[in-house]
Amino acid sequence: MIYDVENIVVGAGVIGLAIARAFAKLGQETLLLEKNGYFGEETSSRNSEVIHAGIYYPKNSLKAQFCVTGKELLYAFCAEHHIPHQRVGKLIVATSPDEVGILDQIKDKAANNGVTDIKQISASAAKEMEPALHCKAALLSPSTGIIDTHQYMLSLLGDFEELGGQLALNASFDSAHILEGGFKIKSGGTQIICKRLINAGGLWAQSVAHSIDGLSGDHIPHRYLAKGSYFTMSRPSPFKTLIYPVPNTASLGVHVTLDMGGQIRFGPDQEWIDDINYDVNLDRSDQFYDAIRRYYPDLEADVLHPAYAGIRPKIQSPNGPQKDFLISTEKTHGISGLINLFGMESPGLTGSLAIANYVTSNV
Ligand SMILES: Cc1cc2nc3c(=O)[nH]c(=O)nc-3n(C[C@H](O)[C@H](O)[C@H](O)COP(=O)(O)OP(=O)(O)OC[C@H]3O[C@@H](n4cnc5c(N)ncnc54)[C@H](O)[C@@H]3O)c2cc1C
Repeated sequence: MIYDVENIVVGAGVIGLAIARAFAKLGQETLLLEKNGYFGEETSSRNSEVIHAGIYYPKNSLKAQFCVTGKELLYAFCAEHHIPHQRVGKLIVATSPDEVGILDQIKDKAANNGVTDIKQISASAAKEMEPALHCKAALLSPSTGIIDTHQYMLSLLGDFEELGGQLALNASFDSAHILEGGFKIKSGGTQIICKRLINAGGLWAQSVAHSIDGLSGDHIPHRYLAKGSYFTMSRPSPFKTLIYPVPNTASLGVHVTLDMGGQIRFGPDQEWIDDINYDVNLDRSDQFYDAIRRYYPDLEADVLHPAYAGIRPKIQSPNGPQKDFLISTEKTHGISGLINLFGMESPGLTGSLAIANYVTSNV
């Protein structure tokens, strides 16, 4: 038997869930295919759970646009759906005199992205906020927050199903053939015809795209994997605010995040890997101690424990320039009704509702 549906979304991570819900809100019959036995088990449950303000991204990039608009949409969604979240704020700390000048550049970059609530504060003002903190100066971002990502995904799914959408678990997207005005999809032994096909496969988006018969490999970027490990501490958190060092070119640096239960996490670092595995490499803890003690000198020895790791689905090589999200539509690949989302790393959680609006308006 061949089923028929308007839209198929591949991947029930936070982005696939947000897209599926957005289609359902438009009254379009939508099926969400997830290969795992549960939604959101991959990158969407292995991140910092931070609602980013939109500070660091290049002006006019998709990352900047989706972060800034997505943040407002997400705070509104959280309030409306009673999702646990908190605007805890974030301090970006300069720990040496030469880093102080970089704070100005970060503030200007934020302003270029429309983030105008950032202010520079002195070392003593920062210390008054966070007595355990060492710094020379800091930037305070009051609109940065934290969110219970699982509850958020659960709520997206609840909305989607209430609007008539269907999530199929243990349902791997295997292949697609392009038809006149749509696609024929194979998932296990099932065949489904749909008009629109959205690939939100996260770390597997490239392999999903390669299984679409007729899509040229020229439109599928190479996938690189950058693991980010987290350590936790067997002590109560000395911080109430998120603490970030001045970022380097590779990542935002080993920062302090807090979950909704107040548990502290340090991380993520960045380690280029060849295959997907989520083990936290204990050898990396020395680098964590060094990085954290720059802003938290009282960190005692032997208090860090491995927590978990996530993997960034990068589309840039280890030494290549930073790349933006790549949301590939008919305009680039020429196939009507198909959108592939590649390189959906941070701030994909913050931007998820804005990304969903973009996808439903551009397919
Ligand atoms: C270490 C780390 C920290 C981060 N911190 C933050 C943060 O603080 N704030 C922020 O905004 N963002 C953050 N991010 C980014 C954010 O987590 C991601 O952008 C977001 O989770 C991506 O969601 P997704 O739905 O694209 O991917 P995923 O969550 O990976 O979901 C993809 C889904 O597709 C499914 N799938 C794949 N192939 C198939 C197939 N063939 N058939 C069916 N299903 C398939 C997978 O099983 C998976 O469930 C972080 C990311 C990392 C790695």
